[in-house]
Amino acid sequence: MVSPLWQHLREKYGGGQCSIPGCGAERFEISQYCQKHALKKQYWGHPEAAFVPLSYYKTEILEVTKVIIKNRQHVSVNAALNFLNEYIETSKRVASGELPANLFPVPAPEFIMSIGDSRLLNKNGIRDLEPLLIRMAGLHLYCDRNEGGPNVRDHNHRIHLMGHVLLWYAKPSRLKGRGIPRRKVGAYIYENLSKFLINVARSVGREIEGAIRFQKVQEMDLK
Ligand SMILES: [Zn+2]
Repeated sequence: MVSPLWQHLREKYGGGQCSIPGCGAERFEISQYCQKHALKKQYWGHPEAAFVPLSYYKTEILEVTKVIIKNRQHVSVNAALNFLNEYIETSKRVASGELPANLFPVPAPEFIMSIGDSRLLNKNGIRDLEPLLIRMAGLHLYCDRNEGGPNVRDHNHRIHLMGHVLLWYAKPSRLKGRGIPRRKVGAYIYENLSKFLINVARSVGREIEGAIRFQKVQEMDLK
């Protein structure tokens, strides 16, 4: 049974070609895009966006790993790890009804609650969030370098990717279908961790500048 409003919207906005240049496929429902591009928009925040695999930001992972390991005792690294731990713990307690959701408004607790029991344990069986933080910082740096290009379309795409990094640790069975809250989770991470992520990226930048300076110094004429 199609509602009159839906019928009206379809008549008004439906039909015609997908608005992505060169696509030519028929529009999907009342979207300005075809089904393929509409789904990409829904999944990744941009009609031409896609998943960015870990292999794309291997270099960045190595760069931020050095910074984070060097600063293991630094208050900002600890605060960032604490934030992630709190997010997971609060989600569990909200999802189980122990804490009221209106007073503890963490995004997507029903997804985040399943994190931490399988994929985050180190070889001693203790939850270790450092690899997750490193992935986030590596992705952030990669996005800094690639935003606006074919792999990181825009800021919205970046937020979806960041949400995905955390959601990847959730139970795989939860990560099927269209309703994955990547944007909500990514926005929450950026809201809380962006200063830290920017700081890590700056530290990587300083290391690179230092190395370039060292190269140049070596070429300077001697007396
Ligand atoms: Zn299309």
